[in-house]
Amino acid sequence: MESFNELNISKQLQYAITDLGFEKPTPIQAQSFSVIMSGADMVGIAQTGTGKTFAYMLPILQDLKFSKQVHPRVMVLVPTRELVLQVVEEIEKFGKYSSVRVVGIYGGTNINNQKEAVAKGTDIIVATPGRLYDLIISRAIQLKSIKKVVIDEVDVMLDLGFRFQLTNILELLPTKRQNIMFSATMTEEVNVFIHDFFVGPTTVSVAVSGTPLENISQYTYAVPNFYTKANLLKHLLQKESDFKKVLVFVPNKKSADLLFEILDEFFGSEVAVIHSNKTQNYRIRSIENFNTEKTRILVTTDVMARGLDLDKISHVINFDVPNFPENYMHRIGRTGRAEQEGTAILLYTEKEKDAKEAIETLMGLKIEELGFPSEVEISKQLTYEEQPQVVEINNPNNTEEVGPAFHEKKEKNQKENQGGSYKRIIKQKYKKPLTRGDKIYNKKKRGK
Ligand code: AMP
Repeated sequence: MESFNELNISKQLQYAITDLGFEKPTPIQAQSFSVIMSGADMVGIAQTGTGKTFAYMLPILQDLKFSKQVHPRVMVLVPTRELVLQVVEEIEKFGKYSSVRVVGIYGGTNINNQKEAVAKGTDIIVATPGRLYDLIISRAIQLKSIKKVVIDEVDVMLDLGFRFQLTNILELLPTKRQNIMFSATMTEEVNVFIHDFFVGPTTVSVAVSGTPLENISQYTYAVPNFYTKANLLKHLLQKESDFKKVLVFVPNKKSADLLFEILDEFFGSEVAVIHSNKTQNYRIRSIENFNTEKTRILVTTDVMARGLDLDKISHVINFDVPNFPENYMHRIGRTGRAEQEGTAILLYTEKEKDAKEAIETLMGLKIEELGFPSEVEISKQLTYEEQPQVVEINNPNNTEEVGPAFHEKKEKNQKENQGGSYKRIIKQKYKKPLTRGDKIYNKKKRGK
């Protein structure tokens, strides 16, 4: 879209745009406008910097008729106080000529001042869920006039543990309303959330603007399972001169902890992990150490890496294949910045093949596949998630027949999966001296 004129917007908004010096809508703005104007629920996949705030505010302000009514008609929910302040400021700029009233609500400050501000009447409330919920409960805010709700940075909100407050707030809102949501990443949790609250939403998605693909060399390996991925990663990371500053992406906290434990055993203080269950202090220290290159390897979830200004990353390792191809773009955009060369490596299992192909389709290129190094051990151990589902044979409610194939498979897997901790297996392989029994066995094998 070449100009804002193509969107049918009011004079007041056009003046504000001219003042701001914006020449044309960004891709997310161009794509969201008609969807939001149509009144449909919308899920936007875009991160900060794409112009997403204006993408939802432009159609909302266009639609917001002047009114002196006290109760708010639009609610914008964001995860942090800083974002409340930022969004309020943006709305004030956009609404400069349309005398729109906006109030910011966030915790850590005097609640009475906020109550007073709301009581004076407002069109838009921008809030963090915790404080907003307190104000709703104390009846300082009436929700009955809310027609549109925007939930921004949903992935961060859920990761910060705001699900409960968010759910409560949404359940108190009038059912006839428009839901608009923005998230930089799509996660399973976000998906569940959309499913619970949105009605047939239209998805609008933009890849990270300006991800410098030409600066990033991309490779992929086909790997059978989690523990083999860990073996391969250890093998790669041993090349210290090459793998100088490595960001390893994992899908969730559980994988982060598991992988960290494995890497920690090998690389000790060279590796750190961040995810939302780690304390703020621990996270800050981990990031600082990584930035000052005290640690070489940082294991992180998608959400935690957001907003971190990490510089000079030599390698981005995708330990899993993101289900939403845009997330892959966000991840690899962490390397190859500012004219520097970077490398992105994607490890995929058979199950993740389709997701890998979706990424290739989005980028319009095929990622070069490297042969699995013969010196890396293929692990037979499976994580809980990788193990075949066990059917409850004794459950009277379960009418499903369990055929012989099931038993065969189960027995086979029991043989292969010897359980126990991964540490023990590593010790056996690298550290523990051979026992007498081993020696005799090996002698026999060699026919002595
Ligand atoms: P956001 O992604 O909403 O955090 O916006 C990122 C920055 O882009 C903000 O500083 C906006 O003021 C700016 N911005 C938003 N829309 C446009 C546009 N159409 N042209 C140029 N800059 C924009």
